[in-house]
Amino acid sequence: MSDGIAPVDLRSDTLTRPTEAMRAAMAGAEVGDDVYGEDPTVRLLEERVAGLLGHEAALFTPTGSMANVLAVAALVAPGQEVLCEASAHIARAELGAHGAVMGVTMRTWIHERGGVDLPVLERLIAPDMGPFFVRTAAISLENTHNFAGGTVLPLATMRDVRELATGRGVAVHLDGARLWNAHVATGTPLHEYGACADTIGICLSKGLGAPVGSLVVGSADVIEEARVRRKRLGGGMRQIGILAAAGLHAIDHHVERLADDHEHARLLAEAMGTDPASVDTNIVVAHHADAPGYVARAREAGVLVSAVGPTAVRAVTHLDVTRADAERAARVLTAC
Ligand SMILES: *Cc1c(COP(=O)(O)O)cnc(C)c1O
Repeated sequence: MSDGIAPVDLRSDTLTRPTEAMRAAMAGAEVGDDVYGEDPTVRLLEERVAGLLGHEAALFTPTGSMANVLAVAALVAPGQEVLCEASAHIARAELGAHGAVMGVTMRTWIHERGGVDLPVLERLIAPDMGPFFVRTAAISLENTHNFAGGTVLPLATMRDVRELATGRGVAVHLDGARLWNAHVATGTPLHEYGACADTIGICLSKGLGAPVGSLVVGSADVIEEARVRRKRLGGGMRQIGILAAAGLHAIDHHVERLADDHEHARLLAEAMGTDPASVDTNIVVAHHADAPGYVARAREAGVLVSAVGPTAVRAVTHLDVTRADAERAARVLTAC
Protein backbone atom coordinates (compact mmCIF):
# COMPACT_ATOMS: atom_id res chain seq x y z
CA MET A 1 0.00 0.00 0.00
CA SER A 2 1.09 3.56 -0.60
CA ASP A 3 2.81 5.72 2.01
CA GLY A 4 1.28 4.03 5.05
CA ILE A 5 -1.93 6.06 4.64
CA ALA A 6 -5.12 4.06 5.23
CA PRO A 7 -6.54 2.91 1.90
CA VAL A 8 -9.80 4.34 0.57
CA ASP A 9 -12.08 1.33 0.79
CA LEU A 10 -14.65 1.32 -2.02
CA ARG A 11 -15.33 -2.43 -2.11
CA SER A 12 -18.79 -2.11 -0.55
CA ASP A 13 -21.08 0.14 1.47
CA THR A 14 -21.34 -2.66 4.03
CA LEU A 15 -17.85 -1.78 5.29
CA THR A 16 -18.95 1.23 7.34
CA ARG A 17 -18.22 1.28 11.05
CA PRO A 18 -20.75 2.65 13.55
CA THR A 19 -20.07 6.30 14.41
CA GLU A 20 -19.51 7.45 18.00
CA ALA A 21 -23.05 8.88 18.11
CA MET A 22 -24.48 5.59 16.83
CA ARG A 23 -22.54 3.65 19.44
CA ALA A 24 -23.92 5.96 22.13
CA ALA A 25 -27.46 5.38 20.88
CA MET A 26 -26.84 1.62 20.99
CA ALA A 27 -25.41 1.75 24.48
CA GLY A 28 -28.42 3.67 25.79
CA ALA A 29 -31.11 1.55 24.10
CA GLU A 30 -33.97 0.08 26.08
CA VAL A 31 -34.11 -3.66 25.47
CA GLY A 32 -36.19 -6.77 26.16
CA ASP A 33 -36.52 -10.27 24.77
CA ASP A 34 -37.60 -9.84 21.15
CA VAL A 35 -38.66 -13.49 20.73
CA TYR A 36 -41.26 -12.64 23.38
CA GLY A 37 -42.07 -9.46 21.45
CA GLU A 38 -40.82 -7.45 24.42
CA ASP A 39 -38.03 -5.33 23.01
CA PRO A 40 -39.42 -1.78 22.86
CA THR A 41 -36.65 -0.44 20.62
CA VAL A 42 -37.18 -3.19 18.04
CA ARG A 43 -40.90 -2.49 18.06
CA LEU A 44 -40.22 1.20 17.54
CA LEU A 45 -37.95 0.46 14.58
CA GLU A 46 -40.43 -2.00 13.03
CA GLU A 47 -43.31 0.48 13.37
CA ARG A 48 -41.19 3.32 12.03
CA VAL A 49 -40.09 1.45 8.89
CA ALA A 50 -43.54 -0.03 8.23
CA GLY A 51 -44.93 3.51 8.46
CA LEU A 52 -42.31 4.96 6.13
CA LEU A 53 -43.23 2.37 3.50
CA GLY A 54 -46.98 2.72 4.06
CA HIS A 55 -47.45 -0.88 5.19
CA GLU A 56 -49.00 -2.43 8.30
CA ALA A 57 -46.04 -4.21 9.81
CA ALA A 58 -42.34 -4.98 9.65
CA LEU A 59 -39.93 -7.52 11.08
CA PHE A 60 -36.27 -7.01 11.98
CA THR A 61 -33.94 -9.57 10.38
CA PRO A 62 -30.19 -10.08 10.78
CA THR A 63 -29.56 -9.73 7.02
CA GLY A 64 -31.14 -8.50 3.84
CA SER A 65 -30.90 -11.99 2.43
CA MET A 66 -33.09 -13.30 5.24
CA ALA A 67 -35.57 -10.47 4.69
CA ASN A 68 -35.83 -11.42 1.01
CA VAL A 69 -36.13 -15.14 1.74
CA LEU A 70 -38.89 -14.58 4.32
CA ALA A 71 -40.77 -12.19 2.03
CA VAL A 72 -40.62 -14.37 -1.08
CA ALA A 73 -41.60 -17.45 0.97
CA ALA A 74 -44.69 -15.60 2.16
CA LEU A 75 -45.73 -14.95 -1.45
CA VAL A 76 -44.56 -18.08 -3.27
CA ALA A 77 -45.40 -21.65 -2.18
CA PRO A 78 -42.91 -24.51 -2.68
CA GLY A 79 -42.91 -25.51 -6.35
CA GLN A 80 -44.24 -22.16 -7.54
CA GLU A 81 -41.98 -19.53 -9.08
CA VAL A 82 -40.81 -15.96 -8.61
CA LEU A 83 -39.71 -13.94 -11.66
CA CYS A 84 -36.79 -11.54 -11.40
CA GLU A 85 -34.04 -9.87 -13.42
CA ALA A 86 -31.15 -12.24 -14.16
CA SER A 87 -28.56 -10.36 -12.10
CA ALA A 88 -30.90 -9.69 -9.16
CA HIS A 89 -29.44 -10.21 -5.69
CA ILE A 90 -32.07 -12.89 -4.96
CA ALA A 91 -30.93 -14.82 -8.04
CA ARG A 92 -27.16 -14.29 -7.82
CA ALA A 93 -26.07 -13.51 -4.30
CA GLU A 94 -28.30 -15.41 -1.87
CA LEU A 95 -26.61 -18.73 -2.66
CA GLY A 96 -29.79 -20.37 -3.86
CA ALA A 97 -31.59 -19.94 -0.51
CA HIS A 98 -35.00 -19.43 -2.13
CA GLY A 99 -34.73 -22.86 -3.76
CA ALA A 100 -32.52 -24.66 -1.27
CA VAL A 101 -34.44 -23.61 1.84
CA MET A 102 -37.95 -22.63 0.70
CA GLY A 103 -38.52 -24.76 -2.42
CA VAL A 104 -39.19 -21.65 -4.52
CA THR A 105 -38.28 -21.85 -8.21
CA MET A 106 -37.15 -18.88 -10.25
CA ARG A 107 -37.15 -17.67 -13.85
CA THR A 108 -35.38 -14.55 -14.98
CA TRP A 109 -35.39 -11.86 -17.64
CA ILE A 110 -32.32 -9.88 -18.71
CA HIS A 111 -32.18 -6.10 -18.62
CA GLU A 112 -28.97 -4.11 -19.08
CA ARG A 113 -29.78 -1.62 -16.30
CA GLY A 114 -31.55 -4.07 -14.01
CA GLY A 115 -34.92 -2.79 -15.12
CA VAL A 116 -38.01 -4.24 -16.69
CA ASP A 117 -39.22 -4.63 -20.27
CA LEU A 118 -42.95 -4.81 -19.69
CA PRO A 119 -43.87 -6.89 -22.79
CA VAL A 120 -41.08 -9.38 -21.94
CA LEU A 121 -42.31 -9.69 -18.36
CA GLU A 122 -45.88 -10.04 -19.56
CA ARG A 123 -44.92 -13.08 -21.66
CA LEU A 124 -43.01 -14.67 -18.77
CA ILE A 125 -45.93 -14.71 -16.35
CA ALA A 126 -47.36 -18.23 -16.24
CA PRO A 127 -50.93 -18.68 -15.04
CA ASP A 128 -52.11 -21.63 -12.98
CA MET A 129 -52.40 -24.54 -15.42
CA GLY A 130 -53.07 -27.26 -12.95
CA PRO A 131 -50.79 -30.29 -13.02
CA PHE A 132 -48.91 -29.19 -16.17
CA PHE A 133 -46.81 -26.06 -15.58
CA VAL A 134 -45.12 -24.13 -12.81
CA ARG A 135 -47.27 -21.22 -11.71
CA THR A 136 -45.89 -17.69 -11.34
CA ALA A 137 -46.78 -16.49 -7.85
CA ALA A 138 -44.64 -13.34 -7.59
CA ILE A 139 -42.44 -10.86 -9.42
CA SER A 140 -39.41 -9.48 -7.59
CA LEU A 141 -38.01 -6.04 -8.41
CA GLU A 142 -34.72 -4.58 -7.12
CA ASN A 143 -34.35 -0.86 -6.39
CA THR A 144 -31.65 0.29 -6.52
CA HIS A 145 -30.18 -2.54 -8.56
CA ASN A 146 -26.85 -3.62 -7.11
CA PHE A 147 -25.08 -5.48 -9.92
CA ALA A 148 -26.43 -3.21 -12.66
CA GLY A 149 -24.54 -0.38 -10.91
CA GLY A 150 -26.89 1.13 -8.33
CA THR A 151 -29.47 1.99 -10.96
CA VAL A 152 -32.81 3.43 -9.93
CA LEU A 153 -35.93 1.63 -11.12
CA PRO A 154 -38.31 4.48 -11.98
CA LEU A 155 -41.53 4.72 -9.97
CA ALA A 156 -43.54 4.72 -13.21
CA THR A 157 -42.07 1.32 -14.17
CA MET A 158 -42.82 -0.05 -10.72
CA ARG A 159 -46.42 1.14 -11.04
CA ASP A 160 -46.72 -0.54 -14.45
CA VAL A 161 -45.40 -3.81 -13.00
CA ARG A 162 -47.78 -3.56 -10.08
CA GLU A 163 -50.73 -3.04 -12.40
CA LEU A 164 -49.69 -5.92 -14.66
CA ALA A 165 -49.13 -8.21 -11.67
CA THR A 166 -52.44 -7.37 -10.04
CA GLY A 167 -54.27 -7.99 -13.30
CA ARG A 168 -52.70 -11.44 -13.51
CA GLY A 169 -53.17 -12.37 -9.84
CA VAL A 170 -49.44 -12.23 -9.12
CA ALA A 171 -47.79 -10.66 -6.05
CA VAL A 172 -44.86 -8.19 -6.11
CA HIS A 173 -41.79 -8.25 -3.89
CA LEU A 174 -39.38 -5.32 -3.79
CA ASP A 175 -35.76 -5.98 -2.86
CA GLY A 176 -35.17 -2.49 -1.57
CA ALA A 177 -31.87 -3.13 0.19
CA ARG A 178 -30.86 0.32 -1.08
CA LEU A 179 -34.32 1.85 -1.46
CA TRP A 180 -33.05 4.73 0.70
CA ASN A 181 -30.63 5.60 -2.11
CA ALA A 182 -33.42 5.57 -4.71
CA HIS A 183 -35.52 7.78 -2.43
CA VAL A 184 -32.75 10.33 -1.96
CA ALA A 185 -31.69 10.29 -5.64
CA THR A 186 -35.23 10.88 -6.95
CA GLY A 187 -37.09 12.56 -4.09
CA THR A 188 -39.80 9.89 -4.40
CA PRO A 189 -41.34 9.27 -0.97
CA LEU A 190 -40.66 5.75 0.34
CA HIS A 191 -44.37 5.04 0.69
CA GLU A 192 -44.89 5.56 -3.05
CA TYR A 193 -42.39 2.80 -3.73
CA GLY A 194 -44.01 0.79 -0.93
CA ALA A 195 -47.41 1.06 -2.60
CA CYS A 196 -46.08 -0.89 -5.61
CA ALA A 197 -45.24 -4.02 -3.62
CA ASP A 198 -46.81 -6.58 -1.28
CA THR A 199 -43.53 -7.12 0.53
CA ILE A 200 -40.31 -5.12 0.78
CA GLY A 201 -36.87 -6.00 2.07
CA ILE A 202 -34.86 -2.96 3.20
CA CYS A 203 -31.33 -2.79 4.70
CA LEU A 204 -29.89 -0.70 7.51
CA SER A 205 -26.37 -2.07 7.08
CA LYS A 206 -25.54 -0.67 3.64
CA GLY A 207 -25.15 3.05 3.02
CA LEU A 208 -27.08 3.82 6.20
CA GLY A 209 -24.11 2.64 8.23
CA ALA A 210 -25.70 0.39 10.86
CA PRO A 211 -23.57 -2.63 11.79
CA VAL A 212 -26.39 -5.17 11.41
CA GLY A 213 -29.97 -5.36 10.31
CA SER A 214 -32.64 -5.34 7.67
CA LEU A 215 -36.41 -5.44 7.75
CA VAL A 216 -39.09 -7.27 5.86
CA VAL A 217 -42.20 -5.14 5.44
CA GLY A 218 -45.75 -6.09 4.48
CA SER A 219 -49.26 -6.78 5.76
CA ALA A 220 -49.79 -7.88 9.37
CA ASP A 221 -50.56 -11.43 8.15
CA VAL A 222 -47.44 -11.71 6.02
CA ILE A 223 -45.26 -10.41 8.84
CA GLU A 224 -46.77 -12.85 11.32
CA GLU A 225 -45.88 -15.65 8.92
CA ALA A 226 -42.40 -14.22 8.43
CA ARG A 227 -41.89 -14.14 12.21
CA VAL A 228 -42.58 -17.88 12.41
CA ARG A 229 -40.22 -18.64 9.53
CA ARG A 230 -37.50 -16.40 10.97
CA LYS A 231 -37.55 -18.41 14.20
CA ARG A 232 -37.57 -21.67 12.23
CA LEU A 233 -34.41 -20.56 10.43
CA GLY A 234 -32.73 -19.76 13.73
CA GLY A 235 -33.20 -16.02 13.34
CA GLY A 236 -35.12 -15.39 16.57
CA MET A 237 -32.96 -12.94 18.51
CA ARG A 238 -33.17 -11.64 22.05
CA GLN A 239 -32.07 -8.19 23.34
CA ILE A 240 -31.53 -6.76 19.87
CA GLY A 241 -32.78 -3.32 20.82
CA ILE A 242 -29.10 -2.38 20.78
CA LEU A 243 -29.10 -3.19 17.06
CA ALA A 244 -32.47 -1.59 16.40
CA ALA A 245 -31.17 1.58 18.08
CA ALA A 246 -28.37 1.72 15.51
CA GLY A 247 -30.99 1.45 12.78
CA LEU A 248 -33.17 4.19 14.27
CA HIS A 249 -30.11 6.42 14.62
CA ALA A 250 -29.21 5.73 10.98
CA ILE A 251 -32.71 6.62 9.78
CA ASP A 252 -32.59 9.87 11.76
CA HIS A 253 -29.09 10.91 10.71
CA HIS A 254 -27.81 9.04 7.67
CA VAL A 255 -30.52 9.16 5.02
CA GLU A 256 -30.24 12.68 3.60
CA ARG A 257 -26.45 12.47 3.51
CA LEU A 258 -26.67 9.65 0.94
CA ALA A 259 -26.74 12.52 -1.58
CA ASP A 260 -23.03 13.05 -0.75
CA ASP A 261 -22.29 9.40 -1.59
CA HIS A 262 -24.05 9.86 -4.93
CA GLU A 263 -21.98 12.93 -5.72
CA HIS A 264 -18.78 11.11 -4.77
CA ALA A 265 -19.75 8.19 -7.02
CA ARG A 266 -20.12 10.50 -10.03
CA LEU A 267 -16.68 11.88 -9.29
CA LEU A 268 -15.25 8.34 -9.34
CA ALA A 269 -17.15 7.41 -12.51
CA GLU A 270 -15.30 10.01 -14.50
CA ALA A 271 -11.97 8.71 -13.16
CA MET A 272 -12.94 5.11 -13.99
CA GLY A 273 -13.88 5.94 -17.57
CA THR A 274 -17.64 5.71 -17.15
CA ASP A 275 -20.17 8.40 -17.98
CA PRO A 276 -21.09 10.10 -14.66
CA ALA A 277 -24.59 10.65 -16.06
CA SER A 278 -25.10 6.87 -16.03
CA VAL A 279 -24.45 6.74 -12.27
CA ASP A 280 -27.77 7.09 -10.44
CA THR A 281 -26.61 6.51 -6.86
CA ASN A 282 -23.57 5.25 -4.92
CA ILE A 283 -22.34 2.38 -7.12
CA VAL A 284 -20.06 2.67 -10.14
CA VAL A 285 -19.55 -0.33 -12.42
CA ALA A 286 -16.87 0.34 -15.05
CA HIS A 287 -15.62 -1.97 -17.79
CA HIS A 288 -11.91 -2.63 -18.28
CA ALA A 289 -10.20 -5.29 -20.40
CA ASP A 290 -8.54 -6.80 -17.32
CA ALA A 291 -10.63 -6.16 -14.19
CA PRO A 292 -8.42 -8.14 -11.75
CA GLY A 293 -5.33 -6.26 -13.03
CA TYR A 294 -7.08 -2.93 -12.56
CA VAL A 295 -8.11 -3.91 -9.02
CA ALA A 296 -4.51 -4.93 -8.20
CA ARG A 297 -3.03 -1.66 -9.53
CA ALA A 298 -5.57 0.37 -7.54
CA ARG A 299 -4.78 -1.61 -4.38
CA GLU A 300 -1.07 -0.97 -4.87
CA ALA A 301 -1.87 2.76 -4.97
CA GLY A 302 -4.07 2.67 -1.85
CA VAL A 303 -7.60 2.33 -3.27
CA LEU A 304 -9.69 -0.80 -2.79
CA VAL A 305 -12.26 -1.62 -5.48
CA SER A 306 -13.61 -5.02 -6.53
CA ALA A 307 -13.86 -7.07 -9.70
CA VAL A 308 -17.47 -8.18 -10.20
CA GLY A 309 -16.72 -9.97 -13.47
CA PRO A 310 -13.68 -10.57 -15.70
CA THR A 311 -14.10 -7.12 -17.25
CA ALA A 312 -16.22 -5.33 -14.63
CA VAL A 313 -14.86 -3.23 -11.78
CA ARG A 314 -17.14 -1.94 -9.01
CA ALA A 315 -16.62 0.98 -6.64
CA VAL A 316 -19.12 1.83 -3.92
CA THR A 317 -19.21 5.05 -1.90
CA HIS A 318 -20.49 5.21 1.68
CA LEU A 319 -20.55 6.91 5.06
CA ASP A 320 -16.83 6.33 5.72
CA VAL A 321 -15.68 7.89 2.42
CA THR A 322 -15.14 11.63 2.76
CA ARG A 323 -15.00 14.13 -0.08
CA ALA A 324 -11.19 14.17 0.30
CA ASP A 325 -11.10 10.34 0.14
CA ALA A 326 -13.22 10.39 -3.04
CA GLU A 327 -10.92 12.96 -4.63
CA ARG A 328 -7.82 10.96 -3.69
CA ALA A 329 -9.41 7.77 -5.06
CA ALA A 330 -10.36 9.58 -8.28
CA ARG A 331 -6.74 10.66 -8.81
CA VAL A 332 -5.52 7.10 -8.25
CA LEU A 333 -8.16 5.45 -10.43
CA THR A 334 -7.56 7.86 -13.31
CA ALA A 335 -3.99 6.51 -13.46
CA CYS A 336 -5.01 2.82 -13.33
C1 LIG B 1 -26.80 -6.35 0.18
C2 LIG B 1 -28.03 -6.71 -0.53
C3 LIG B 1 -28.99 -7.56 0.04
C4 LIG B 1 -28.81 -8.22 1.40
O1 LIG B 1 -27.57 -8.65 1.66
P1 LIG B 1 -27.11 -9.20 3.10
O2 LIG B 1 -25.64 -9.24 2.93
O3 LIG B 1 -27.73 -10.53 3.24
O4 LIG B 1 -27.58 -8.25 4.14
C5 LIG B 1 -30.12 -7.79 -0.67
N1 LIG B 1 -30.34 -7.23 -1.86
C6 LIG B 1 -29.47 -6.39 -2.43
C7 LIG B 1 -29.79 -5.76 -3.73
C8 LIG B 1 -28.27 -6.11 -1.79
O5 LIG B 1 -27.40 -5.29 -2.37
